[in-house]
Amino acid sequence: MAKNINFIEKLRELGLRPTKQRVKICEVLFNRDTTFHFTINDLVKKISTEMFEKISLATVYNTVHAFEKKGYLKEILINSDKRYFDTNIAKHHHFYDEDTQELIDCNDVDIDPVNIKKNITGKKINSIEIMIRVASDNQNQ
Ligand SMILES: [Zn+2]
Repeated sequence: MAKNINFIEKLRELGLRPTKQRVKICEVLFNRDTTFHFTINDLVKKISTEMFEKISLATVYNTVHAFEKKGYLKEILINSDKRYFDTNIAKHHHFYDEDTQELIDCNDVDIDPVNIKKNITGKKINSIEIMIRVASDNQNQ
């Protein structure tokens, strides 16, 4: 209950009317212990199923983008037509399973420090976030 009040405040802070559907979006995104990677379409399906009612793509889209803009969610671009959002906003790496189209977190401890030999004049490296694409190994079949 206390958490829902927080969500209502959070939504108001973003200038969004805290409707039942938007509070539900908050619950799905932020009432969890594990990282959640999702596309807008995934979230529409999940909310509609859990609420037993249809939620519009526009509502989900606007709410998610408002959260992303405020830094509560992180956007991860797989390619030009596949955008994921991540509830883990810390700097981290990912595996991307091309078979299941699933993102899996990969931490700094799982990768040795990366040695970047090229630099861009006048620029410094802000962060290095690696995307490791994996697929079934069908070579011998
Ligand atoms: Zn992640």
